[in-house]
Amino acid sequence: MSLTKFIFPAMAALAITSCASKATDEKAGDFDYTVDRFADIEVLRYQVPDFENLTPQQRILIYYLTEAALTGRDILWDQNGKYNLAIRDLIENVYKNYDGDRDSKEFKALETYLKQIEFANGIHHHYSMDKFIPAFSREFLVENVSKLPADKQPENAEMLYTVIFDPNVMPKRVNQAEGADLILTSANNLYEGVTQAEVENFYNARKDTTDATPISWGLNTRVVKENGKVTEQPYKVGGLYSESISRIVDLLGKASQYAENDKQRAIIAKLIDFYTTGDLKTFDDYSIAWVEDTDSRVDFINGFIESYGDPLGMTGAFESIVNFKNEDASHRTEVISGNADWFEKHSPVDPRFRKDEVKGVSAKVITAAILAGDSYPATPIGINLPNANWIRAAHGSKSVTLENITQAYDEASHGNGFNEEFVIDQETSDLMDKYLFITDNLHTDLHECLGHASGRLLPGVDPDALKAHGSTLEEARADLFALYYLADPKLLELGLLDNPDAYKASYYKYILNGLMTQLMRIEPGKDVEEAHMRNRQLIAAWAYEKGKPDNVIEMVKRDGKTFIKINDYGKLRDLFGQLLGEVQRIKSEGDYEAGRDLVETYAVKVDPALHKEVLDRYATLDIAPYKGFVNPVYTPVTDKDGNITDVTITYSEDYLPQVLRYSEQYRTLPANSK
Ligand code: ZN
Repeated sequence: MSLTKFIFPAMAALAITSCASKATDEKAGDFDYTVDRFADIEVLRYQVPDFENLTPQQRILIYYLTEAALTGRDILWDQNGKYNLAIRDLIENVYKNYDGDRDSKEFKALETYLKQIEFANGIHHHYSMDKFIPAFSREFLVENVSKLPADKQPENAEMLYTVIFDPNVMPKRVNQAEGADLILTSANNLYEGVTQAEVENFYNARKDTTDATPISWGLNTRVVKENGKVTEQPYKVGGLYSESISRIVDLLGKASQYAENDKQRAIIAKLIDFYTTGDLKTFDDYSIAWVEDTDSRVDFINGFIESYGDPLGMTGAFESIVNFKNEDASHRTEVISGNADWFEKHSPVDPRFRKDEVKGVSAKVITAAILAGDSYPATPIGINLPNANWIRAAHGSKSVTLENITQAYDEASHGNGFNEEFVIDQETSDLMDKYLFITDNLHTDLHECLGHASGRLLPGVDPDALKAHGSTLEEARADLFALYYLADPKLLELGLLDNPDAYKASYYKYILNGLMTQLMRIEPGKDVEEAHMRNRQLIAAWAYEKGKPDNVIEMVKRDGKTFIKINDYGKLRDLFGQLLGEVQRIKSEGDYEAGRDLVETYAVKVDPALHKEVLDRYATLDIAPYKGFVNPVYTPVTDKDGNITDVTITYSEDYLPQVLRYSEQYRTLPANSK
């Protein structure tokens, strides 16, 4: 469910690749994907291929939707912490007005801090949730604030200094530690003056557990105490964040005039209605209309969506992504889903465990046009919404992949040294450069559209029979299905690949990752715990051991370093097929013991020497743990009467200029909005 966040660990899996899409082939040479590098962050830029091939009406629609997206920026900053906007003002003002040595250590540290808070939309790290520790001194900041013009000197400066510098004040944005009062100990601004117990009692008294279509309680509210009573402050026109939301509503109204069809116009109208009333029932109506619209080329999310920022998981952070369908790549998922039956009938599992008829899940591939709110600059690579379970069950969900974002990750990772350090030879490295992007995409499509949907349980078998090992084995089943078919001539016949050896790129990377490189995500001394990682090690380690008699996979030592060598790709495919048969049997029969043995034998334990070697070798590469993106710039073209007739796109804006411009242009809230 929800958003697939793409952070560094997953990146290493994709690591090095090449482009497959036309648009990038044309531009790859002169497009600079790398924008900035600081602290643990790398900022990239992405292309919006085919924007030029949309109609002017679609481009104008996108323009207004992107404006509506960026206009919610301050809401997220304020949700993330009540002093965030004031601190942003303070640091930006010092940064812009500083007339000392801009190469000095203190100023450089201030610049890094500014880049960090702009990346995190606040003073806490976007992923770890820990408060940033500035590397400049309090004295340096105080001195330079005193030089600011009077109207830029905050009244509560002392308080802001304490919040910035005292490590004991607001240390964590979201605290999930067992036993603590999660609301009192979390620094976000979603609650004020209330305890966790008070909030829980407040909502428990309102929730009707027999309601089959419950609203998403608390999604758009701040909870406070007024006159001793717990109460909600809804985000809406006339309510909290009214200044921002009114402007968003205005821009959505303009977008609506350029909607592609009546259905889309009705969706925008429902969203405006929600923002105007704050009524969560209306938000559900909007979500249903949105999920059922599969005809419009342009699509967007805009609202209070994901609740990771709330320790109780209720309030949604402002977020918006505007996008349009990537027709070529979506063709790929349609072809795969359209042939679902063929794949099921030919899968290497006992026919008793196959489905009689299988319907592929159709997932579309999209091109992101803007990332905003909680998706900016750190962004998901996939979206699966809406979040309300009953809507998903009754009306389905939209599952999309942001391929221009994954492509930018891939392009930017060229030359990061990963290949040179970990891949055994030039030939394999070249093959990965050429085919890893397309085969990884196909792997994802086969895994998502067919793998999880294939197979069946024997009558009477409990779907939860595999218990704690269920998700590892389920991911293994879907991965094995994808791996097995990646090497099938059927993919060439369907026109999805053009080289019978292409799959080897994906096979090599899978084994390398499963046996070695994913270990860099694990702390020394720890086991593999996360289900996807267990699944990858299970498959790679099982294939390594079962292939030993034929020397299918070798671990080669060179200059004290370990390398993976695959001697027989054909036999490796057979092994994947055999393991798929066995994992499907385990699932279909609910054979808990066999499943547990597979996981415990192959998926959990780590060789400490190899683990240390991977960590040491990884540390020599300067690969940022976290990545994010700057947006392109959209500029309206107007006629002599000032009417917008079209929109152009440019990619030249850098990171700091962009966030500083956003702070000015999309400023909607006062530094202390309450
Ligand atoms: Zn999966």
